[in-house]
Amino acid sequence: MLLKDEREAIVEYSRRLRPDGLVVGTSGNLSVRAGELVAVTPSGLDYDDLTPELVCVSDLEGKVVDGDLEPTSEMPMHLAVYRTTGHNAVVHTHSTAATVVSTLVDVLPSVHYLTALFGGPIRVAPYATFGTPELADNMLAALEERTGCILGNHGTVTVGGSLDKAYTLNIYLEWLCEVWLRADAAGNPRLISDEELEVVRRKISTYGQSAPRAES
Ligand code: 13P
Ligand code: ZN
Repeated sequence: MLLKDEREAIVEYSRRLRPDGLVVGTSGNLSVRAGELVAVTPSGLDYDDLTPELVCVSDLEGKVVDGDLEPTSEMPMHLAVYRTTGHNAVVHTHSTAATVVSTLVDVLPSVHYLTALFGGPIRVAPYATFGTPELADNMLAALEERTGCILGNHGTVTVGGSLDKAYTLNIYLEWLCEVWLRADAAGNPRLISDEELEVVRRKISTYGQSAPRAES
């Protein structure tokens, strides 16, 4: 089977979307790039019914090269990321807090230092009809120097070097939106400056087990 590992990964993460609260019904979509090919969720299929064989494989022009089903209607967004950035995975969701935020502001206020995971303040792309090149253009502009953005009156997009990275960022994005919504409902939240976010962005690149160990 073409892109066996990538198709299996798409199934594994698709199954997590609803329990993780990132989508309702068949909304949202996932893709992973491997060389000149992309493994991507089919359009409108119940995630519980997805198998590796049903995952679509397309080229970078969107031509399906393996799989019998129609790929996601959001192919323009997925392909736009692969054509213009070095990222290898795209996660699009309709998670609740992020979708609420998508109706309120143009930029998610930076209430928490983990905003730096996304490269800086998280933008909200102007609304455009789902599945259109216009939505893909709006998303690309909002993603400039970022690993995630919110789609106006729609949902989220996160990107990364792997599906695991893009998926984990999506969970963080939902959490950041929830924190801001609660803080804003409770009072007048203090924000983190862009300068401090830049300090954190550099520090975070060696956070956890990625830092070289000191010689003892
Ligand atoms: P698909 O089922 O075609 O992937 O569309 C879901 C969606 O979220 C559209 O924006
Ligand atoms: Zn959508």
